[in-house]
Amino acid sequence: MAQKYCKPNYFNTLLTDFIALLYPEICIGCGNVLKQSEHLICIACSLDMPRTYYEKHRNTPIEKLFWYKTDIHEATSAYFFTKKSRIQQMVHSFKYRGNKDAAFVLGEKMGIILKESPRFNQLDCIIPVPLHPKKMKIRGYNQAEILAQGVSSVLDIPLELNTLKRKNHNNTQTNKGLFNRWTNVNSIFCIENPQKIANKHVLLIDDVITSGSTIEACAQQVLTVTNTKVSIATLAIATG
Ligand SMILES: [Zn+2]
Repeated sequence: MAQKYCKPNYFNTLLTDFIALLYPEICIGCGNVLKQSEHLICIACSLDMPRTYYEKHRNTPIEKLFWYKTDIHEATSAYFFTKKSRIQQMVHSFKYRGNKDAAFVLGEKMGIILKESPRFNQLDCIIPVPLHPKKMKIRGYNQAEILAQGVSSVLDIPLELNTLKRKNHNNTQTNKGLFNRWTNVNSIFCIENPQKIANKHVLLIDDVITSGSTIEACAQQVLTVTNTKVSIATLAIATG
C-alpha cells in the first residue's frame, strides 16, 4: 500500500515563528532573547551561575548561621545572591513578576546539585518555608513551594505540605527591635499533623537566606516532633 503523504503544516510553523517574533522569550537572567533550543535561561547564564559549592565543604557561611542555635544536620545554598546579579534577576522573575516556571527550573537545578552530594542522600521528605497568607494572596503561589517541587522532581522525594504552617497574625518585621523581631519570628510557625513527619529527615527549602532567622524558626518547629532531623537547602545566600 502506498504510504500516505503528510503535507508539512507550513502555516502552523509560520504562525509560531511570527508569535515568537512579536513576543520573544527572554532569558530570566540577562534579558537577552532566547534561542529556540533554550528555555527560560540562556546558555551563557547557565554556564555563569554564581555557584557556592557549599555542598562540597564544611563550616560554610550557611552552616555558621545555625551554630550554637539549632541542630541542623546539613545546610547548603546553591548560589550567591548579590545585588544586580543574574541570580537576583532570576529570583525577582519568580518573586515579583509571576514567573512560576522560573522557580521550578531553578528548583530542578538545586535538585541536581543536591543529588550529586552524598550529604543529602538520606532525606525522607521536603518542606518549603510557608509563605505569609497576605503575600500568598498577592503572588498567587509560594515560590519556596515551587522551588521545592523542582527539587522533589529530581530527588524523587515527596513534598510534605500539611505539617509546617504559618500562623496568620504576624505583622511586618520592619521597624522592630532585634529582640522583638526574634520573638516575632519564633512565634509565627506551628506544626499540624506531627505524625506525618515523626522519625523523618526533613529537608527545608527556601529561596534566599539572609540572617537565617525564618528558616531557623521553621527548623525549631520541625524538631519539636519525635525523632526528626532537619537539613536545609536554599537557592541562594545573600552575602555582604
Ligand atoms: Zn541569559
